[in-house]
Formats: sequence, C-alpha cells, structure tokens
Amino acid sequence: MIFSPAHPSPLTPHPSKKLFIVAPRGWCAGVERAIEILDVALTNFPPPIYVRKEIVHNKIVVEAYRKKGVVFIDELGQVPDHQTVIFSAHGISPQVHEAAEKRGLNAIDATCPLVTKVHSEVLRFVKNGYKIFYIGHKNHEEAVGVLGEAPEHIRIVETEEEAQKIPVASGKIVVLTQTTLSVDDTQKIIDVLKTRMPQLQTAAKEDICYATSNRQAAVKLLAAAYQPELIYVIGSANSSNSNRLCEVAESLGIKARLIDGAADIRQEDWVGKTSLGLTAGASAPESLVQDVALYFKDKGYNVEETIFEREDVNFALPKNLVELAVNV
Ligand code: SF4
Repeated sequence: MIFSPAHPSPLTPHPSKKLFIVAPRGWCAGVERAIEILDVALTNFPPPIYVRKEIVHNKIVVEAYRKKGVVFIDELGQVPDHQTVIFSAHGISPQVHEAAEKRGLNAIDATCPLVTKVHSEVLRFVKNGYKIFYIGHKNHEEAVGVLGEAPEHIRIVETEEEAQKIPVASGKIVVLTQTTLSVDDTQKIIDVLKTRMPQLQTAAKEDICYATSNRQAAVKLLAAAYQPELIYVIGSANSSNSNRLCEVAESLGIKARLIDGAADIRQEDWVGKTSLGLTAGASAPESLVQDVALYFKDKGYNVEETIFEREDVNFALPKNLVELAVNV
C-alpha cells in the first residue's frame, strides 16, 4: 500500500499533529501508598482480603484487584469476623474504626495522610471551641469520613450559592476543605463565606493537597503554552480530582474528555484536530497514560511530554502493617 501525504502511514508522525502530555499527572503519593498497602496485604495475609469501598477511585485498578481475589465491600457487616479489611485512601469516620475494633477485624488503614491531617484539624478546632464550615462534596467518601469526626460541629458547603444562603454563624469559625477540590472554585466559596462572616479563619495550610493543586496548575500551564483543542483526562467518573481537571480545562475554553482509558476514545472527538493535551487524575496509573499515547502515536501524532514540576512526596506504610507483614 502506498501512503500519500494526504493519507500518511499511521506509524509516520505528521509534523503538525501533536499530543502534549503534561506532568505532574497520575498517581499521587497517597494513591501509591494505598496500592502498596493492598499489595503487601495480598502477599502476607490469608485470602480473601476485603477492601471497604474502592481502594482508589479508578475503575480499571479496582477491576484488576477484583481479578486477583480482592473483595470490595460497602460496609463492614459484609466482612466475616477476624478477617483482614483495608480502609480506602479516602478515609473513614471514627465509627467505622470502632466497629472494626469491636469485631476483631485485622484492619489496615490506607487513608492518605493528607486526609488524616484534615481529620486531625477537625478535632483540634472543635476542642478549641470552633464551628467548622467544610467545603466538599456531600456524598464523597472523604467528606463522609471527615464529617463523622464531629457531625454536630461541622456544616458542609458545596457551592458558592450555598455559601450565599447559609445562616451566618457567630463566635469562632474556621473553614476546612476536601483535598481534591478545584483550587479556584474553593477560593470563591471561601471569599463568599469570609464576606458574610469576617471572623472566619482558614486553616494555616490549605487542605487541597499538593497533588490536586499541581495537576490543576499543570493543565493551566498546558493550556497557556500549547492551547490544545482538546484535553483528555484519564480518570474514572467518581474521581473528584479528575473531574476537577476537566473543569479547569473547560474554564479556559478548552474541550475536555474524561476517559477511563484508550478504549473510551471516540474518533469523532479528535479527528481534524492537530493539537491535543493529555493528563491523568491522581488515581489513574501511568500504564493508562502510555496506552493513550500509543493510540495517538498510531494515528500519526507526535507525542511530547512537558514536565511543569517534579514531585517528590512519599508516605510511610501504616505501622501495624509493617509489624504484621513478613514480606514488606
Ligand atoms: S489526591 Fe491528595 S489527598 Fe488524595 S490520596 Fe492523593 S495525595 Fe492524598
């Protein structure tokens, strides 16, 4: 078969067709730790290993572990006594911890330390007489876990509109946030609350985590540097930080598509476009990024990686896992 310039070989990159992959992207330190915890549990404890909720919000990762025999459950009642159960990276309420202890379960907590930090802030502020406004998504597991620390002292706020309508609180008040929110939207909500309640304090260090803010900043820089016509975000529909990456792109006037992997790419989205962007949410593994890169290489795109910032964050494994496991 002869390839004309109008129909180039699928393996010959077209000079003007580019796929820009950005970094930081993909797995964060909290997700890497949760996955390592699950791997260590699988090789050290008798099967089956139970995981409460999805270990991380990624359909493909969860499915891969399901195939390895991991049993994902929604509530502790589904775990037989004395079995091993892992709590997901998003955190749990103290009530779940207590229930596991009462049941004699071998419970291993894969909550990201940056989520645990917000739990600790709740306890500290409540002890010091504060009421808390918590900006987050009402049904997200992370929010449910944080609220469980002191439900009677926390009021959840999800949108600017809600912040406008919420009854004004007197006395000491502080705002805390979910770790995976939009940096810009969260600031707008804080501004509304602060205007209505000038005594409102913000926690000394922002709760939105480094991985969330770095990935959002990278999308903004990608947009400014290359102005791609479409940005693919690899992540599952229930991944908060992945959805926020799409919103960041769209707020800059760039179309975004959230995909679980290369199998979700629709030809009608990219045909005729010469400049595409690619990133991945904090729960999407690098292998999925490389699959998408390969897909577009095969379609004649030049793949270029731009690293806007290097991350160097690591979290230690839980003490009880290290003590109990032989092969760590
Ligand atoms: S996104 Fe942030 S808070 Fe969530 S697991 Fe990763 S590092 Fe932790």
